[in-house]
Amino acid sequence: MKRVTGKVALVTGGAMGMGKSHSELLAAEGAKVFVCDIDVENGKQVVEAIRSQGGDAEFLRLDVSNEADWKAAVTSIKEKADRLDILVNNAGTLILKPVHETSNEEWDRTFDINVRGTFLGIREAVPLMQESGGGSIINISSIYGIIGAPSAGAYIASKGAVRLMTKSCAVDLADFNVRVNSVHPGVIDTPMTKDLLHTDEETRKTLLGPTLMNRPSTPDEVSKAVLFLASDESSFVHGAEIIVDGGYTAN
Ligand code: NAD
Repeated sequence: MKRVTGKVALVTGGAMGMGKSHSELLAAEGAKVFVCDIDVENGKQVVEAIRSQGGDAEFLRLDVSNEADWKAAVTSIKEKADRLDILVNNAGTLILKPVHETSNEEWDRTFDINVRGTFLGIREAVPLMQESGGGSIINISSIYGIIGAPSAGAYIASKGAVRLMTKSCAVDLADFNVRVNSVHPGVIDTPMTKDLLHTDEETRKTLLGPTLMNRPSTPDEVSKAVLFLASDESSFVHGAEIIVDGGYTAN
């Protein structure tokens, strides 16, 4: 018996980076995974790779900021799998600017994807989770949902909102047997951070900051925390935040 056998999962931003890794690990551990993204080509490749390993996955085109896309995705999952146990609100975007230099468009885009995307996902997924007898919602925030950092004002505000949305949903959804938790990655080596980590040593050092383990994490090190929250091993973990940052915030 694998760790999430028989469960059905929806992962947003599943075409690359951490979302790809969460999708692959959940599938390897027995879940049927709906890989959701706006990037159709890479998303379909993730599905193919999972299937080639004997896993069960399907791609759905989903822009997390779009209500109609969410409704269509959940309807499709209801038709194809008739249940939903795991929602990983992973899709996110980063803009590197301080608040006082951020345009309305940049602010709105950050909040549309990071906050509205998480809100819509929870609202649209909960009825099917309820029908399924409960579930686990995992919201990907950031260490920058807990602490500040230079030049990322909209991102930090959005990830703080995701952190506290998680707490409020934990309060409201406990009676439905839906657990809600947040994961707070530190510096992870993905396409989002590629230029910052692999261009020059000084930028890499600045980004790693006080990371005690003195390296970025690989995506799968975060996926293992996601898997724990998705599985029944975390049956009493609710409204919690798991920090996966190599000691960054401890330092
Ligand atoms: P990434 O940029 O490498 O990948 C993000 C994925 O989300 C892409 O596949 C992209 O196509 C998809 N996406 C973007 N907008 C979307 C939308 N509107 N609808 C659906 N999909 C969309 O990012 P990553 O580094 O893997 O980050 C994943 C999550 O982890 C994000 O929420 C990010 O903020 C968070 N995070 C990242 C780091 C890091 O160091 N990389 C640290 C902390 C938190």
